[in-house]
Amino acid sequence: MRRTACWSILSLLCFLVVQQGQAQPAACRAEDLCIGGEATAVSRNVGQLSPLTTVANTEPCPGTPVDVAAQSPDEHGLACSAAAEAIHRLAVCGITPRRPVRVQIMSEVRHPFSGAIFGLLDTKQERVLVTQEANVQTLLDGTPYAALPRRDFYRSLIIHEVVHAVMHQNLKRPASSHAAYEYPAYALQIESLAASVRDMFLQSFDQRAIKADPIFNDSILFFDPYFFAARAYLHFKSSADGCSHLAAILDGEAAFIAPPM
Ligand SMILES: [Zn+2]
Repeated sequence: MRRTACWSILSLLCFLVVQQGQAQPAACRAEDLCIGGEATAVSRNVGQLSPLTTVANTEPCPGTPVDVAAQSPDEHGLACSAAAEAIHRLAVCGITPRRPVRVQIMSEVRHPFSGAIFGLLDTKQERVLVTQEANVQTLLDGTPYAALPRRDFYRSLIIHEVVHAVMHQNLKRPASSHAAYEYPAYALQIESLAASVRDMFLQSFDQRAIKADPIFNDSILFFDPYFFAARAYLHFKSSADGCSHLAAILDGEAAFIAPPM
């Protein structure tokens, strides 16, 4: 498990800046995933951030309420496949898209406060932005994801973001914390990995620690999102009814999520 002081400080600074600047903050970590908050500043910046973010043709995914903008048929096919799996995994819990999900595969996705990131859900424009697979390697370096087959990780990354999108469409009230936003995305992302790959990821952590305290909070998320991801998956899978946790988050009544900092 990696917990460098540098990333931790960056994460904390990022969190504090966003907290002060927006009514509904964006979760962001320098090396990890982001949810764009509803504040216009974040969404506007995301859309303008880089000349590399030119959107290619948008095409629908066959049989799935998802539109994908990508630069190649391979990228389009992979994104559609991953998005369909995300939608299926949520549908198992009775959670379905209320409108089509838009996914854009981009040369680079940047957050205004933390630089290049894997991807994010832009809630203002209702679109999922994901960095191209070829460009995620530098973001992977130094993380537990780096040991995983890149394609496996990348597919799970798209699943993570599409879970955010569909959950967001179904929220009955705004999630009370970043942890509440991230729990479903991480739990289903890690669940989507093949068993051997998932075990590789889970073995990165102290086994007693990831099975301990069942309360999820923003501190753990910001200081060690990978640890949070591992715990979310184990908590979700070890529950008699993991789907009830997702329903509770949609209702804003998840007792296992600590109040925000
Ligand atoms: Zn996320």
